[in-house]
Amino acid sequence: MSYQLPELSYSYDALEPHMDEETVKIHHTKHHQKYVDNFNKAVEGTPMEDESLEDIFPRISKVPDAVAKNAGQAYNHSLFWRSLTPNGRKEPSGALAAAIEQEFGSFSEFKKQFNAIAAATFGSGWAWLVKKGGKLQITSTSNHINPLMDVAEEKGQPLFCLDVWEHAYYLKYQNKRPDYLESMWNILNWDEIEKAFAS
Ligand code: MN
Repeated sequence: MSYQLPELSYSYDALEPHMDEETVKIHHTKHHQKYVDNFNKAVEGTPMEDESLEDIFPRISKVPDAVAKNAGQAYNHSLFWRSLTPNGRKEPSGALAAAIEQEFGSFSEFKKQFNAIAAATFGSGWAWLVKKGGKLQITSTSNHINPLMDVAEEKGQPLFCLDVWEHAYYLKYQNKRPDYLESMWNILNWDEIEKAFAS
């Protein structure tokens, strides 16, 4: 059974003006689809066909490169799309809000630190909020790496991620990655992120 491209819970133009329709459409139907297709090709006829992506990540350093790269990108993009919503609240509430305040001092300090780490990611990669031993941590990874992989420098359970590959923002924001990052705080799906934190 092959891995399927997850459908988005919103339309391609729903994240406007923060993420433009063309970018979301190309990102989902071309980039993300290609990673899914290439993952399925790479595991075809191997026992990994019957494993979940999360099963493979803890031993990702031992699987073929094509499996590692496409498994990572398939998972990372799925979480990325779930991290966004057109009807987002501006801030989290409840236990997650309390944990952010405890760990970072305030929501605005958390946001500042997240943006700084995401902006400083060299080249293509991802910025993450992870839960690690009940604590929160911001981390960034390069290329296809994620915090569930054995090769990740910082490991943890991902709560949300932002894609900082240029294909995520170049049409609208060109080289201005910090502007893209700032805009993403308008469309974060705190309902989903709080659910991930609670689980
Ligand atoms: Mn991407």
